[in-house]
Amino acid sequence: MNTRPVLETTDLKVAYGGNLALDLPRIAVRERELVGVVGANGAGKSTLVNSLLGWSRGSPKVSGKVLLDGRDISALPPHERVKAGLLLIPEGKLVFTQMSTEENLASTADDAPAGQGRRRYSTDEVYALFPRLYERRHHLGSQLSGGERQMLGIARALRLGPRALLLDEPSIGLAPRLVSTVLETVRSLVDSGLTVLLVEQNVHAAIEVVDRLILLERGRILAEGTASEMRDDPRIAEAYLGAH
Ligand code: ATP
Repeated sequence: MNTRPVLETTDLKVAYGGNLALDLPRIAVRERELVGVVGANGAGKSTLVNSLLGWSRGSPKVSGKVLLDGRDISALPPHERVKAGLLLIPEGKLVFTQMSTEENLASTADDAPAGQGRRRYSTDEVYALFPRLYERRHHLGSQLSGGERQMLGIARALRLGPRALLLDEPSIGLAPRLVSTVLETVRSLVDSGLTVLLVEQNVHAAIEVVDRLILLERGRILAEGTASEMRDDPRIAEAYLGAH
């Protein structure tokens, strides 16, 4: 069995000036795994997302490696990483507001084969997964609710055949009921073959769907384990339940 991670970082260090914002020995996400990275404000979540994608806002000093299927993609510019199959669903739900749902989905159309381990979803498959998007197919992006935009953002990424999907704070701005709906959909996508790294501040929502959870604090891994191990970890309780 091939146990090589789909997405992996080794010795990833990111510094702004003299301030070490991220210092991670290793993060690995295996095939069909949903790994959550949680942490409070300033823990380093955005820094992690930026360095996985190769964004260098604020001119950080970055060292270490980002590997996709064992291939070192650290030196690739962001668009090449996307081409390689590392797709981001950004915080704030990236959809075209002046295009209909249907046009948003069509704008990602590409008939080329997606490559090994990648599956491009057809528009019909996407509609089957998100019936709400089918109902709203003629609505403009700007007319969709926050939850619908989030679904459309995920749907657009699925059209591109992600090798690994990176979800940045999908719960932000969503009603609690919708947070569960979106995260449960992500869970079912993972169950049907997708590999996902979920970066989330809402640990309560994340822990319900992830296989493993990584807790960041001040750029370092404070705790890491399976969802059930982490549910009982006092550091999770301390960090989020205010139990000091
Ligand atoms: P939040 O949920 O508030 O966005 P976060 O977990 O995403 O927090 P980061 O934004 O990654 O945290 O910040 C991690 C650390 O790096 C913080 O100490 C922050 O001040 C610092 N930092 C982030 N971006 C920059 C930058 N462009 N210049 C200087 N310092 C930065």
